[in-house]
Amino acid sequence: MSRTFEHLDLPLSALENLTQLGYEFMTQIQEEALPLALGGHDLIAQAKTGSGKTAAFGIPMLNKVDVKRMDIQGLVICPTRELSNQVAEELRRLARFQPNLKVVVLSGGIALRPQIASLEYGAHIVVGTPGRLQDHIDKGHLNLSHITTLVLDEADRMLEMGFKEAMISIIGDLPKERQTLLFSATFPADIEYISRRFQKNPMQISVESHHSMDTIDQQFYICHHKDKLPGLVKLLNHNAFEHGMIFCNTKALVTEVVDFLNEKGIHAVGLHGDMEQREREQILIRFKHHSVSYLVATDVAARGLDIEALPMVINYELPRNQDTYVHRIGRTGRAGLDGVAITLFTEKERYKLAQLGEFQGHPLSYESIDIVPSARAQRIEPKYITLYISGGRKDKVRRGDVLGALTGEAGIDAQHIGKIDVVEHSTYFAIETPFAAQAVSRLNQGKIKGKKFKVGRVE
Ligand code: AMP
Repeated sequence: MSRTFEHLDLPLSALENLTQLGYEFMTQIQEEALPLALGGHDLIAQAKTGSGKTAAFGIPMLNKVDVKRMDIQGLVICPTRELSNQVAEELRRLARFQPNLKVVVLSGGIALRPQIASLEYGAHIVVGTPGRLQDHIDKGHLNLSHITTLVLDEADRMLEMGFKEAMISIIGDLPKERQTLLFSATFPADIEYISRRFQKNPMQISVESHHSMDTIDQQFYICHHKDKLPGLVKLLNHNAFEHGMIFCNTKALVTEVVDFLNEKGIHAVGLHGDMEQREREQILIRFKHHSVSYLVATDVAARGLDIEALPMVINYELPRNQDTYVHRIGRTGRAGLDGVAITLFTEKERYKLAQLGEFQGHPLSYESIDIVPSARAQRIEPKYITLYISGGRKDKVRRGDVLGALTGEAGIDAQHIGKIDVVEHSTYFAIETPFAAQAVSRLNQGKIKGKKFKVGRVE
C-alpha cells in the first residue's frame, strides 16, 4: 500500500530527481514522516538505518533551504563519522536538483583544518558528530544563528556514547525558531528529556511496529494458569522448530520454565539479568551457534541482544506493555522472512489481548490451548555443541586455522562444523554433537599455528 512521492507538496524538480534516484514509492517511515515534517511539525520518530530515514528528514530539510543565502540552514547531528558521511552523501543525492547547495561534514577523527576551509567557502547544511561540532563552535568557526532545521540522528546512540552534554550545549546555541526532527531506535528516559526540553509539540512516529507485524504469524492461546507448562511443551512438540526464544516476565519463571522443559527432554537454557557477563556471553554464543535449542529470557536480559532472525518466538505470558510485545516478536519475521509468534495468556489477561488488538488496529483472534494436539513427546536437542579453544585473535588464531586443524589433523569433514567465532583471547566453534568428543581429544593432542591450546566444551 505504498504511495508515490507525487502526493507530497514538492517542486517538480525535486520529484523528478527522486524518480531519477529510483525512489518510486515512499518507504513506511517516509510515508508517515514526510507529510508532517513538510508541514513544519517537530517529529520524534523511531526508525533504523535502512528504513529510508535519511530522506524522511532530508527532503523536508532541503525543501526549506534558500540556496541564494550563504548561511548554514540545516544541522544534522550523528553519533559516528561513518553515519555522518553516509547521511551527507544521501543529502547530496537528494539535493541534486538544487544547484550549488553545499553540504559539509564536520566529524571527529580527521583533521580540523580542511573542515575550517570548507566552512569558509560557505555551507548550507552541516552534518557532524557532537564532539567535533562543539569544537568548531567553541573556536568560533561555526555560525549556527540561521539554522531552521535541526536533525538528531540515532539520538539514543549518541547518548550511549556519552554525548549528552555536548548535544545539550550545541542545541542550546541554536535559534529557538526552528524545526527539530529527532530519530532514535529506542526511547530511554534521556531521549524523552531531550525531546521535552528541545521540541515543540512533537508528533510521534513509529514504523517498526506495523512493519514487522506483516510477516509475522501471530497466534494466541488462552490457557489456565496450571496448564501453561504442559501447554508450552505441547506447542514445542507440535511446531517443529528447533530454535527459538521464550519470553517470561520474571526471573523466577525463567528458571521454572527451563527446569520443566529440561525434565521433558526439551533442551532449554535460561538468560536473566542476574547472570554474570561472562556467563551471559557464553550462553549467547551457544544460542547463536545453535547449541541451545530454546533460550528462555526476561526482557531485561534480552535487551539489545544481537541475534539473527528467529523462526519462532513464544510469549509464555503477555508482556507488561505493547512496546515490549512488539520488541519481542520483532525478533522473528525479520528482513522479509516469515516468523511465528505464539502467545499464551490466561482468562485474567484477556483485557490485555484486547488492548494489543486496539494497538494493532484490528481484533486478535485466539484459540484454546486444548485445540493443540498432544503430539508424542519427543526429545528436542540442539544439532551442535559449542567448543572453546584457549587462544584467540591476540594469539593470531584465525578462522581458517581452526577449520584447517579440524578437517586436517582431527579428520572431521567440514560439513559437520558450524559457526566459528574468534574473539580476543579465545575461539568458539560449533560442531555437530556426534563429532565433539573426537574434536576435543584430537585438538588437545595437536597444535594450532604451532602452539598448544586447551580445547573443551562451553557449559
Ligand atoms: P537510510 O535508512 O536513510 O540509510 O536509507 C537506506 C537506503 O534506501 C539508502 O540507500 C537510500 O538511498 C534508499 N532509499 C531511501 N528512500 C527510498 C525510496 N523511497 N525508494 C527506494 N530507495 C530508497
